[in-house]
Amino acid sequence: MIRIEALVVGLGIAGINMCRALEEAGIAYHVIDPCADSGSSFIAGGIYNPIVIKRKVKSWRVDELFPKLVETYTAIDAQLGIRSLYHEVPIIKPIFSDDELHEWRTAADSGTLAPYITPSDITAPDPHLADGALAQVNIRHSGFVDLRALITAYRQYLIGSGRLTVGSIGPERAEAEQVAADHGVHSMHTIWCTGTDVRHHPHFGWVPLRPTKGQMLTVVAQDDLPQAIYNKEFYLLPGNGRTHRLGATYEWHDLYSGPTQAATDELIGRVTRTMRHPVTAIDAQTAVRPNVADRRPLLGSYGYGTGQHLFNGMGSKGVMLAPYFAHQLVRHIWHAEPLDPEVDMMRFGKRMYGRNE
Ligand SMILES: Cc1cc2nc3c(=O)[nH]c(=O)nc-3n(C[C@H](O)[C@H](O)[C@H](O)COP(=O)(O)OP(=O)(O)OC[C@H]3O[C@@H](n4cnc5c(N)ncnc54)[C@H](O)[C@@H]3O)c2cc1C
Repeated sequence: MIRIEALVVGLGIAGINMCRALEEAGIAYHVIDPCADSGSSFIAGGIYNPIVIKRKVKSWRVDELFPKLVETYTAIDAQLGIRSLYHEVPIIKPIFSDDELHEWRTAADSGTLAPYITPSDITAPDPHLADGALAQVNIRHSGFVDLRALITAYRQYLIGSGRLTVGSIGPERAEAEQVAADHGVHSMHTIWCTGTDVRHHPHFGWVPLRPTKGQMLTVVAQDDLPQAIYNKEFYLLPGNGRTHRLGATYEWHDLYSGPTQAATDELIGRVTRTMRHPVTAIDAQTAVRPNVADRRPLLGSYGYGTGQHLFNGMGSKGVMLAPYFAHQLVRHIWHAEPLDPEVDMMRFGKRMYGRNE
């Protein structure tokens, strides 16, 4: 029997960041995950963007979240000997109308978007944008995490140190002792990082997820694009040569029906309207995001002293949210620090007792 303090169920972005936070706190852990090359974290573009582009405001808590993001993925890369973090890759937001240009200039001049956008970050359009582009906003301190590289390397790291059991835990067996015994592990705490699968969980199935399906494409471009992320109702990631990743759609129906031609056409159409040269799709994949109605993470513990904890609700921003809030949940469990009320799952507590808010 392996004696550990925490069992982490699920090794997506949430699970990896939980492992990192536990390791930094000196807490011994073991992980259970089926290691499928699918799922939200494996498919995601991995972008982190400090600006809510539609509203021209800073992203929620970005000034607190970004330092932890950069510190965490830099440290993981150094530990594993990989490169997954691509920091300081600008996001280029093309502008095609005078009104929009005026709004961006006003927002930049106000100083509220600094240090991510200042007036000098609104420049002439680059030659890869379609005719009609008037300008572009260059968002700074943004980037992306190559999540496939990160997840693959983290699995190997855990397997190498005997801390990963490849498998799945059935929802009807959620009690920590039983889970632990079945996997030869004695654990005080179980931290559930299972993304949208939480809906089957007997203790946490009540949390109000609003899952959204997203489709990502692998595309080939006709010309060499710069090391930048283009964003206009799509994002086109820097690629390997002329092969790029293009995302992503948002759908609330037929969540598990896989890729569709309609979604591919929609994404390609958006690029065609924005970029000088079209791109060609060569592959499509879908996954389901664990979104929450109020767009905040879901952290918490089931009852008092049960040792059952939830780390979920990363929505569309797992890369940015998970590093900071994994540490917060660890401090909550082991040092009884209160959770931030905005992320505490008990903000939806009435649902737990069957009374919907
Ligand atoms: C198309 C698309 C594009 C996206 N782009 C971005 C982006 O650019 N930037 C960004 O920050 N976010 C993006 N997201 C959102 C991001 O993917 C999510 O925020 C994130 O993946 C959630 O991570 P998670 O670890 O909570 O869940 P998941 O990634 O779903 O991981 C859950 C893990 O738990 C495992 N598991 C589930 N049930 C069990 C069980 N019973 N026993 C054992 N293991 C179990 C699963 O196999 C999986 O490995 C995107 C999502 C999609 C779908």
